Order: sequence, then structure tokens, then C-alpha cells
Amino acid sequence: MIQIAPSMLAADFLNLQKDVDIVNSHADLFHLDIMDGVFVPNISYGFPVVEAIAGAAHKPLDVHLMIVNPEKYIDRFARIGVSMLSFHLNATDKPAQALLHIRETGMKAGLVINPDMPVETLFPYLQLCDHIILMSVFAGFGGQRFIEETYDRIRTLKAEIDRQGLTVEIEVDGGVSPANVE
Ligand code: ZN
Repeated sequence: MIQIAPSMLAADFLNLQKDVDIVNSHADLFHLDIMDGVFVPNISYGFPVVEAIAGAAHKPLDVHLMIVNPEKYIDRFARIGVSMLSFHLNATDKPAQALLHIRETGMKAGLVINPDMPVETLFPYLQLCDHIILMSVFAGFGGQRFIEETYDRIRTLKAEIDRQGLTVEIEVDGGVSPANVE
């Protein structure tokens, strides 16, 4: 099943309710990009905004952490009511432990890789993941162009998920538009 998860980075932050309503009525998930200015050069928004969206959302919250030490914040996102929590594979020394911790809280656990990391680096962790986010632009800024090699990476990842007999959803993040969504 295909789901659409608009990034709230594109929202009008002076009129958040309007964009939350649009996602509630027309999309499947709220995609929340959290940037710390360390793991990526940019800073996005933090807990007050996530809590405000959580309070008005009728669709699940899909949080994508672009931060160092993501394991520090797992319980806090769980308390806010986040449904899906993902972090970058190279943002922590202990990805397996962090994935297990996320699942223990009842959230769905996900790993993310940038376009320059081989898809194969994910393979040892797939059984601990509910979803994988393949970046189709480099994480950290909105509005970039979709990288075409992503299609092959999706195929490779899907084949390995099937080979391992797993149910892991694949999320494609960045430059997705009506022109390429199909
Ligand atoms: Zn994202």
C-alpha cells in the first residue's frame, strides 16, 4: 500500500493548524524532520512544535531524527504519542540497541541512510526495523531534486527484505512530487 507522508518542514509555521488540517484530510502520515545543527548543518524545530502537531493530528506521526545520539530522546518522543521513530544509521554507535529500545516503547522503529551510503549497510539490521527511510536527497535541507539512482536502491532493498522474509516498509524521503510519485 502506498502512503503519503508530507514533511511538516514545508508547513506555514505562522499558520500550522491549516497545514495540519490538510494532512489530516488528504494524507496518511505526518513526517516530522528533526535537525540539530550537528548531525546536519541545519536546525529545524523541536519538542514544542512536535507536541503542537501531535495535539491536532488525526494521522500517525512519523518522526525522522537527523540528530546525534538519537537514543537520548526515544522515551520523550514515545510520551508525545509518536507512532514511528527513525534515526540515521551513522548517528549512533549502537543502532541495534536503539531500534530495540524504540520497539520496547511501542513505536515503530526505522533506520535512515543518505544517498551516498550503500543500501547493504542496512541489511544486518532489517529484522529490527519496521520501516527504512531511503533518502532520495541529502538529509538536512528541504526543496532538493530527487536523485534518480534511488529507484535502483529501492529495488535492491526490497529484494533483500523479501529474501529475509520480513515486512519492512520502505519510505522515500526527498524530492518526491506528483511527477515521480507513481
Ligand atoms: Zn525526512
